[in-house]
Amino acid sequence: MSAQRSLSVLGATGSVGASTLDLVRRERENWSVVALTAHSNALELARLAREFSAEIAVVADEARLPELREALAGTGIEVAGGCNALIEVAGRGVDVTVAAIVGCAGLAPTMAAIEKGGVIALANKEALVSAGEVMTAAVAKHGATLLPVDSEHNAIFQCLQGNDVAHVRWITLTASGGPFRDWSWEQLCAATPAQAIKHPNWDMGAKISVDSATMFNKGLELIEAHHLFPVGLDRLRIIVHPQSIVHSMVEYRDGSTLAQLGPSDMRVPIASALAWPERMNTPCDPLDLAAIGELTFRMPDEVRFPATRLARDAAHAGGAIPAVLNAANEVAVAAFLAGQISFTRIAAQVEDVLNTYMPVPPASLSDVLDVDSEARQRARELMEAA
Ligand code: NDP
Repeated sequence: MSAQRSLSVLGATGSVGASTLDLVRRERENWSVVALTAHSNALELARLAREFSAEIAVVADEARLPELREALAGTGIEVAGGCNALIEVAGRGVDVTVAAIVGCAGLAPTMAAIEKGGVIALANKEALVSAGEVMTAAVAKHGATLLPVDSEHNAIFQCLQGNDVAHVRWITLTASGGPFRDWSWEQLCAATPAQAIKHPNWDMGAKISVDSATMFNKGLELIEAHHLFPVGLDRLRIIVHPQSIVHSMVEYRDGSTLAQLGPSDMRVPIASALAWPERMNTPCDPLDLAAIGELTFRMPDEVRFPATRLARDAAHAGGAIPAVLNAANEVAVAAFLAGQISFTRIAAQVEDVLNTYMPVPPASLSDVLDVDSEARQRARELMEAA
């Protein structure tokens, strides 16, 4: 890459944040780090802020601010705490913002970054799922560039380069199927959080790992793709590909299918977004297809894994419904991880919330946040009543 660019990483202490900073570490001279943020992991945030000479470090959980302040005392690095501070630093205006907070909590900071223009490398799928129309309208209004970091969407983005979406016949999102793809219903009913977060191919945060096990991850990605690539919902489909080597595909009307392949390492799509429209090195091993041997594909099973059906229905309904689906899923995943509900209750509980709460379409960020908060409340009430 040519000139040095300024960078903020929202969610710097997470899995995507760590992969991003690993790439930055290898090309330090190309980046000046402005803001690094975390929720509560103040010590790791302070370590990263020192290493990358960040201008400011922010913890969303204000109670951790004293810890952060003490850890960065004497460094000259600015510190701040709380959700408003997070939004304020996200809106400071940098060349590239990596949006890697997990959940709808990342929505307001991501919107603040969008409002400053620049490149938004988006990993935080829940934000786009909840606020699809509001976010894409803000991107257009403020001239921001939204680059998908999610491996499937980054693959599709690459396969669409130089082509007109009008010629697309299908966009196919690949899904690993998660750790339980071959489990019986009886086994799924007894699945534990430790089993769910042990993904066979990817090393990810806890929430997305559970989403991958339920297939909500693919459902959220279907909605995400609907907003990023306007080919119409009926041209989006999902196929299970256990090896996670083909990250997604685009079929054109002449019968040509373009696919993006690569190792199951998030540094590949992150590098693609960081360097776009150029390319940068990654430390990932070259793809050895002969060693992999075979790539297999099969249809998803929406009886054992109803999440993709629920997400497709939510995308068709549009308006506030995807935000309700996302919020209900976030509450259910947290409850599952806390041992409060079974694995199979996650999708059932999301469906219960969708059946009882149908708010009007949100027109602004604050409307989306209201829907999100009300849907969470409904989800908790239904859970307590069950
Ligand atoms: P992690 O759980 O590993 O990290 C989440 C990051 O967000 C951490 O820095 C965490 O801080 C911060 N955070 C959590 N809650 C809040 C909050 N309420 N307010 C502010 N910051 C918060 O998640 P991942 O890195 O796995 O995922 C991040 C996003 O990227 C998700 O939306 C996920 O779906 C998406 N994604 C992830 C992939 C992956 O391989 N991990 C692949 C594709 C997409 P702290 O450490 O202090 O808790």
